[in-house]
Amino acid sequence: MNHEQNLSRPAVVHDFPAFLDINGRKVLVVGGGSNAARKVSRLVAAGAAVQVYATQLHPDIQTLLDEQHLVQQTRDWQTSDFNDVCLVVAASDDQQMDRAISEAAKTAGAWVNVANQPSMSNFIIPSLVDRSPILIAISSGGSSPVLARLISARINSFLPTTYGELGKLADRYRDRIRQHISDWRHRRSFWERLLSGHVGELILQGHAQQADDALDKALADYDSNVVTGEVYLVGAGPGDPDLLSFRALRLMQQCDIVLYDRLVSQPIMDLVNPDAQLVYVGKKRSDHALPQEDINARLVSHAHEGKRVLRLKGGDPFMFGRGGEEIETLAAQGIRFQVVPGITAAAGCASYAGIPLTHRDHAQACVFVTGHLKDGSVNLDWQALARPHQTVVVYMGLVGLPVICTQLIKHGLPGNHPIALVAQGTRRDQQVLTGTLSTLPAIVADHEIKPPTLIIVGKVVQLRDKLAWFESRH
Ligand code: SAH
Repeated sequence: MNHEQNLSRPAVVHDFPAFLDINGRKVLVVGGGSNAARKVSRLVAAGAAVQVYATQLHPDIQTLLDEQHLVQQTRDWQTSDFNDVCLVVAASDDQQMDRAISEAAKTAGAWVNVANQPSMSNFIIPSLVDRSPILIAISSGGSSPVLARLISARINSFLPTTYGELGKLADRYRDRIRQHISDWRHRRSFWERLLSGHVGELILQGHAQQADDALDKALADYDSNVVTGEVYLVGAGPGDPDLLSFRALRLMQQCDIVLYDRLVSQPIMDLVNPDAQLVYVGKKRSDHALPQEDINARLVSHAHEGKRVLRLKGGDPFMFGRGGEEIETLAAQGIRFQVVPGITAAAGCASYAGIPLTHRDHAQACVFVTGHLKDGSVNLDWQALARPHQTVVVYMGLVGLPVICTQLIKHGLPGNHPIALVAQGTRRDQQVLTGTLSTLPAIVADHEIKPPTLIIVGKVVQLRDKLAWFESRH
């Protein structure tokens, strides 16, 4: 029976993705220009025995030749050259010539790639994200190399450059761990925890030796059934998910449980690992769903259960966020933790409202204060805040706004001193109200304001008339 004739092909066929071992194999490249150069360097990196047919060589190819990584042929190619060759790259910059090369190579049974001519090629050279030994190849099936390059640029931007080191670590320990943990399912979950947990983090931060030590310890703990968790104290920024840091996002995606509060916006919560357990710990003004001591205690107990605990906080964890108190408890208990800064509300709101916090003409200093004290009063160093040539940013100041304005005037600022209130800063429904110390409380009272809100006092507020950009885009 002839199997070939009985095969029914799918309606749409696409290229078969594969990584080839061409170490030591003969590869011919016809052409010495920039198109050839990009491919030659990859072929050399793969250990191929590369022969370049060209009289003029791109400087990169010349360097590889000088370093004896390839051979140059200055004569014309001929059909018999393609015997025993595994790959041929035609990049002569002459379409007729490239077509002839393609036909001759196919006749000789070699795989051929013609630069920018997928129809003449029977293999393509994909866009590459190189995190050796991890390689990510992207193909658009020849339809749009530009799109493939854009995609690889995006992957490049969020995959830490040190990611390949994880692969090297896995390589170093593979045999040992295989011997140590015989059941493949246990082995897989051990690796998963390792690479996306403490050991992985150490590697990504460039601490290879500590990572090896931690891995040895993890193996020992595995034997004694000890599980060790850790806590990530992460700043989620003021609300726009685009303002998250790469590290914040990575930890959000590898945690087992999240303790979050009201300030963390929904679009950011949507980016958290969907399998993680979500725990709301409140923190609305005067509605502490969980008292701070309980939050501290929960962080400790979940870490003791071996979990990767994400403590996700609005803005920056060390800015009016009690982040310090939370990790003090962890430090006292010897629990591993890391702190990831976030964009604090002052920075986020100022940028998105078009109000630079400092400016050579208006403010040489900027002070951040909280307008809400534990006992509900506003008791600030008014004398210091009423100084000229500075910007004052008040967190948690909405309720105290009338008092703040009155006190600043009483301590010397003019009634027409500019002031702004930014509500829902950086979020899609950001609202900015501006006025003066005399007028803003009444303006605010006239509007429906959705928290969180931030107050900015200073001459810089006037710059918003020229510099506002965000609201106009919606
Ligand atoms: N750690 C946070 C601040 C926590 S205190 C940070 O660094 O930003 C909470 C206060 O922050 C709120 O009452 C409000 O004054 C301010 N805030 C946080 N996010 C805000 C936002 N998106 N818009 C306006 N104010 C915000």
